[in-house]
Amino acid sequence: MDSAPEGSAPRKGKGLALHWQILLGLLLGAVFGVLAAHFGFSSFVLVWIKPVGDLFFRLLKVVAIPLVVATLVVGAASLGDLKKIGRIGGRTLVLYLATTALAITIGLLVVNLFGPGRNLDPSLRAALLKSYGGALESRRAVAGSLRPLDQLVRIVPDNFFGALARPEMIQVVFFSLLLGVALTRIRSDRARPVVAFFEGLSDAVIAMVQGIMKIAPYGVFALIAAVIADLGKDSSQAVSLLEVLAGYMGCVVLGLALHMALVYTPLIRFLARIPLGRFYRALAPAQLLAFSSSSSGATLPVTMECVEEGLGVDREISSFVLPLGATVNMDGTALYQGVAAVFIANVYGMHLGLQDMLTIVLTATLASIGTAAVPGVGIVMLIVVLQQIHVPPEGIALILGVDRPLDMCRTVLNVTGDATVCASVARAEGAIQGEAANPM
Ligand code: ASP
Repeated sequence: MDSAPEGSAPRKGKGLALHWQILLGLLLGAVFGVLAAHFGFSSFVLVWIKPVGDLFFRLLKVVAIPLVVATLVVGAASLGDLKKIGRIGGRTLVLYLATTALAITIGLLVVNLFGPGRNLDPSLRAALLKSYGGALESRRAVAGSLRPLDQLVRIVPDNFFGALARPEMIQVVFFSLLLGVALTRIRSDRARPVVAFFEGLSDAVIAMVQGIMKIAPYGVFALIAAVIADLGKDSSQAVSLLEVLAGYMGCVVLGLALHMALVYTPLIRFLARIPLGRFYRALAPAQLLAFSSSSSGATLPVTMECVEEGLGVDREISSFVLPLGATVNMDGTALYQGVAAVFIANVYGMHLGLQDMLTIVLTATLASIGTAAVPGVGIVMLIVVLQQIHVPPEGIALILGVDRPLDMCRTVLNVTGDATVCASVARAEGAIQGEAANPM
């Protein structure tokens, strides 16, 4: 298969490496956002700076779907035999499911250990429920009557173009994979031009991603400045909210850090057999982008670029494992859903037993699979988890006010998890080239 199109791999080139530029953009954006909130020019930021971030975000989103379709069709077609696809798919799914279940377990251990919310003042609880109750209704309507297994049924699209347009990433993944496999089952003179078309498309879209990444530092600056300016508009309310919910937020962040250290580190070292420093250096642009955009879907093109160019993973593996991961593998989201469910139950004074914990592991795994890779959807799917353990879904109103910063953090974990599994599967298939080719 062709490698990435010639030209600038974004991390190479003269001057500051791209991930440093993005980090700089992020830090300056954060400072700018804080200043805007402090000196009262938040609306200036929202009107004049935010559009730059929105533009960057939309550019990434618009390339994500064609990239997934093209690379996945080519990937599945070039993997050739069904046995190989089955083996790679099997490994990928086992790792995705196992890491997600571990993530929720870590979240549950942390939240049960520290028990945030057990002594929340009833008047504060009433105030929180009141101020965010309105916002709850719209989310509730989205979650509607979702049942856990609905997520599995929804994998199969009833209309492929509908799936592209909405977009329903998991349906797009499913159909592209099917198409790629089908191309290996028909006469090769018929299949070849179709595969060549998708190969050309995939190279062109990757060239677009490389172009878009040139404005990443500015995009990240604008995204972060806008988020902070918006959060800090009513800074007195924000500060008191943070105080009340600090324990809950601390548990989520601690859980995410523990998952990174206890689950990803051994996988990167012993399964992927890549030095940690190299792994994180290669992935830094994607992680920073995930943090600033809160969207693993929009980050996907960059994750693919980092894993292929930075880690040397063959595109036939990354094009299959990463889009699937952006759709179904959300360790950060699942962990957060576990912590949030217990926190809300604590606030309501409800005691959750072992069976409830197991229900949370099961439903949060399914709910995270069904969570779209865009900002703020994890909290919608939390409603499904709460319904299963009979905790009032109104409870999400308690945590809505601080969801965005947690969304930023959990999205970083979501993206890191996808890359970790991708590198592990690639190592098992002997599909890592370049400097990382020789296992540690
Ligand atoms: N924002 C997350 C993501 O895109 C999903 C979520 O937890 O809301 O990965």
